[in-house]
Amino acid sequence: MPELPEVETIRRQLEPEITGRRILEATVLDERWTRPEPPRDVERAITGRTIEAVERRGKYLLLRLEGDRTLAMHLRMTGNLVLQDGSGDPAYLRARLRLNGDRVLVFTDVRRFGHAVVLPDEELEEYFAARLGVEPLSDSLTAEELCRVAAGRRVPLKSFLLNQLGVAGIGNIYADEALHRAELHPLSPAGSMKPEDCERLRVGIVEALEAGLRSGGASIDDYRDARGEEGSMQDEFLVHTREGKPCPRCGAEIRRIVVGGRSTYFCPSCQRRLRRRPRRRARRRAAS
Ligand SMILES: [Zn+2]
Repeated sequence: MPELPEVETIRRQLEPEITGRRILEATVLDERWTRPEPPRDVERAITGRTIEAVERRGKYLLLRLEGDRTLAMHLRMTGNLVLQDGSGDPAYLRARLRLNGDRVLVFTDVRRFGHAVVLPDEELEEYFAARLGVEPLSDSLTAEELCRVAAGRRVPLKSFLLNQLGVAGIGNIYADEALHRAELHPLSPAGSMKPEDCERLRVGIVEALEAGLRSGGASIDDYRDARGEEGSMQDEFLVHTREGKPCPRCGAEIRRIVVGGRSTYFCPSCQRRLRRRPRRRARRRAAS
């Protein structure tokens, strides 16, 4: 599933190619792509508008359009967004934007979970505030902010990272990679982090995502970049999908467990399991 580095790779490739181009024709071939909005309404809302900027929030790719409208797209499991030069339609085509200059932006999706929504710009902030937490590659991600959103949470760190409302853009791959870099066990309760753990996790998140960006994302499934090419992050994984192989830091055997229904890879030797901090009420009773 595409995560922040994959979506940001697509964004960086599209930005110089489609900024300033006009959407001459929009065709939605799958009504699930725009549900609950009817496809015709979405086509009408974006046709004729110029793309003013290409942005990203979490795993969402945003086409900022003239007239204060934004087309927000989410790739979900198997969505791909590829820029073509006008030749034939690819397999699993769900939507097609014909741009001036003979460029065609296509959204393909084998499993059809990807979706798109058109929003007036004044509703953008509210839309994402309800869905996404702090952007990890911005100045807003600090150890203090991580500790603040994790405070009192008993969920495992792995689940905490997957929940987009705390930190945006992290999925199964980069959660595993970030926790290994931070030397933190995925089953540690999120609220058990001390300030120094939050700082380690912050660094781990940033380093894991930047490694993903450097290698153009990970193509362990259907992910392709905006040029239709694979990324190479899967060759750089420290722990993810490396069950039974040696930990690159300490040499112990990497293990796979299931956390919240998701395969989770970690090193049982050098990723420290934090203990749950005693609850305030229990501590007060002990003191009395
Ligand atoms: Zn290790």
